[in-house]
Amino acid sequence: MSLMIPYENLNTLNKSFEEKFRDKFSRFLDKGWYVLGEEVTHFENEFSAYHGAAYTTGVANGLDALFLSLKCCAFNKGAEVIVPSNTYIATILAIIHCDLVPVLVEPESRTYNIDPKKIAEAVTDNTVAILVVHLYGRCCEMDPIIEIAAQHQLKIIEDCAQAHGAKYKGQLAGTFGDFGAFSFYPTKNLGALGDAGAIICKSAADFSKLKQLRNYGSEKKYHNSVIGYNSRLDELQASFLRVKLPHLNEINTHKRKLAALYALHLDPSFIKPVESPDFYHVYHIYNILHPERNRLKQYLADHGIMTEIHYPVAPHHQEALKGILKSYDYPIAEKIHETTLSLPCSFVHTEKDILHVISILNAFVNKLF
Ligand SMILES: *Cc1c(COP(=O)(O)O)cnc(C)c1O
Repeated sequence: MSLMIPYENLNTLNKSFEEKFRDKFSRFLDKGWYVLGEEVTHFENEFSAYHGAAYTTGVANGLDALFLSLKCCAFNKGAEVIVPSNTYIATILAIIHCDLVPVLVEPESRTYNIDPKKIAEAVTDNTVAILVVHLYGRCCEMDPIIEIAAQHQLKIIEDCAQAHGAKYKGQLAGTFGDFGAFSFYPTKNLGALGDAGAIICKSAADFSKLKQLRNYGSEKKYHNSVIGYNSRLDELQASFLRVKLPHLNEINTHKRKLAALYALHLDPSFIKPVESPDFYHVYHIYNILHPERNRLKQYLADHGIMTEIHYPVAPHHQEALKGILKSYDYPIAEKIHETTLSLPCSFVHTEKDILHVISILNAFVNKLF
């Protein structure tokens, strides 16, 4: 027992871009332009080009990307937004911060993503939008969702914080809805060296409004046309993101290669992510489900293998959401939260690392029976 496997290692990951980062920083220092400069504009254009999308607005973080997308829609106070019960709490917070009502919808038990059939059942006269989350790096099943949205004239906002480069039927996450909201938090598949986020959108009017909203409601200096915020993508983070964006596909390909090893060799008693041809999964998180999750996590730690839980407490069980939600009965989300375990699957893990994790995991099974 000598091989230690960390869950991830951001230090090693970012060290591989060290020279380019240092070069970016010294140019930045020489230039002395700190906020909303050329690097932000270039990154926005490059992010749009990557997605074949019309417009990108850089913002401060992923929560703001969601929040400002909703703000941009100017929904009436108290209107309902459909959102998965199985997500990170940020998705739901964005809705609450806009004085809108989150209506939680259960996921499919095998894909962990929002169940389109249940969306249709949750739509009321008061529904204005569907906020989908492409959880763990697997896209939601967008065709039926787009159909429901069209039928009821609902906006679609995509939480792409875990889905940079993920595809559904060959189309990139973030390009299906009216808005694609991204986080570049350091752990994400495309991660900055601090907080950062972006919104992609299709309409020129939305783009113009988002640029105002992120900057005090002003496009022209000292002329404020809407009630805005301060949520700008940092110039330095934009320059770092420009270094990493050309490597996003390489990062995703590597993670997919590691995921394929788990898929092939991991004992079938561990419930693995479903793979199907329509879904290009980018494995922001490679999770398994196991009824004895906590014991399994401890066993792996005892063998030098670090894991995480995404997430240990479901949103509807969070203290912060007490008394706010219409219902607190989400058994499918609960079951996922109770049994999910995230395994090492990062750009800095090698195939050998993953084969080691697999052999330790499979030994757990043999001890049980
Ligand atoms: C990371 C994340 C966010 C929030 O992003 P920040 O940049 O940390 O604000 C939102 N939704 C999901 C699903 C996330 O994983």
